[in-house]
Amino acid sequence: IQPYLEGWLDRGEVYPASLHLRALAAGVPTAGLSRDVQSRYPAEIVPEGGFDAFHELIMLDEIAASGPGGQLGQMGINSMALPPVLFAGSKQVQDMVVEDVIAGRKNISLAISEPSVGSDVASIRATAVRDGDFYLVNGQKKWITGGHMADFLTLAVRTGGAGAKGISLLLVDNKSAGIDVRKMPTQFDTCHGTTFITLDNVKVPAGNLIGEEGKGFKYLMINFNHERLVIAVAACRFSRTCYAESLKYAVRRKTFGKALAEHQMIRWKLAEMLRLVEALQDSNERVAFQYKEAVPDERMGSQCALLKVMASKTF
Ligand SMILES: Cc1cc2nc3c(=O)[nH]c(=O)nc-3n(C[C@H](O)[C@H](O)[C@H](O)COP(=O)(O)OP(=O)(O)OC[C@H]3O[C@@H](n4cnc5c(N)ncnc54)[C@H](O)[C@@H]3O)c2cc1C
Repeated sequence: IQPYLEGWLDRGEVYPASLHLRALAAGVPTAGLSRDVQSRYPAEIVPEGGFDAFHELIMLDEIAASGPGGQLGQMGINSMALPPVLFAGSKQVQDMVVEDVIAGRKNISLAISEPSVGSDVASIRATAVRDGDFYLVNGQKKWITGGHMADFLTLAVRTGGAGAKGISLLLVDNKSAGIDVRKMPTQFDTCHGTTFITLDNVKVPAGNLIGEEGKGFKYLMINFNHERLVIAVAACRFSRTCYAESLKYAVRRKTFGKALAEHQMIRWKLAEMLRLVEALQDSNERVAFQYKEAVPDERMGSQCALLKVMASKTF
């Protein structure tokens, strides 16, 4: 990725469609490393005894080092959108998507946020109304990472009344009639592939329901835990990069007859940056350890919420 990224950014391009295939060929699995996924990767890329959360931590850190948004964007989105299908989806739903995504042939995005709803997931407005063997889906989804490359969406919709218990997840073919995907300009980077998706009377087979009706909010909350670790690892690498660049500059740049790095105030600032970066690294490793020890995702909520705060305050 690294030799090409600057060019992609300069030209306002996105990752090439072959990204995941090429990553896999290079031995980098991009659809997650949970136990249910890793047995489906080519045996030659799985280490003896299987991957654990520390392999994942190192891999995510290295991918984040490749440049802005790399890991959080198209490179990481399959691993964030696929888990609900894996842990809640029926065999029929899994058969539509899992093998192809793991093999890097197809992509899946996670479509939750809307123009009027972000943090408050329980208030989403997109609706799915049952009509015979189909759901008719209407609504808008905003900030959807990789939407332009996605073959499928893990889509949050309202199938019931107000609040968390009215939300369900559907696996949606992103090429369905009635779906419009537009690239969104952002301050972040073009490679991230941020999109705005409009769903206008989209017919989704009822069999594409992920898990049970009304359980979508619970599935999303479970899924957010691991996603928070992924994002915290990236935040840590991005922060470390800022620290390293600042240090280089402070050593090079001279003011009042000496390098910036020799001024006490600047030394304090650099030490403070490094303190935060290392504390975040420790937190990431603590959470990774719990995943390695197979603490179920349902019990990781508070740890991952604290990690999210720690990562946000650091980066
Ligand atoms: C890089 C990037 C990629 C993304 N990718 C995806 C994606 O793939 N799929 C997807 O569905 N979404 C995606 N999102 C959207 C993301 O999930 C939302 O931005 C996030 O949930 C916040 O929602 P919001 O932006 O609407 O802010 P809001 O929820 O409207 O919040 C606005 C501000 O109010 C604060 N706030 C909110 N609630 C409270 C409260 N109770 N008390 C005090 N302060 C509060 C927030 O911290 C924030 O500062 C992405 C966002 C980014 C930045």
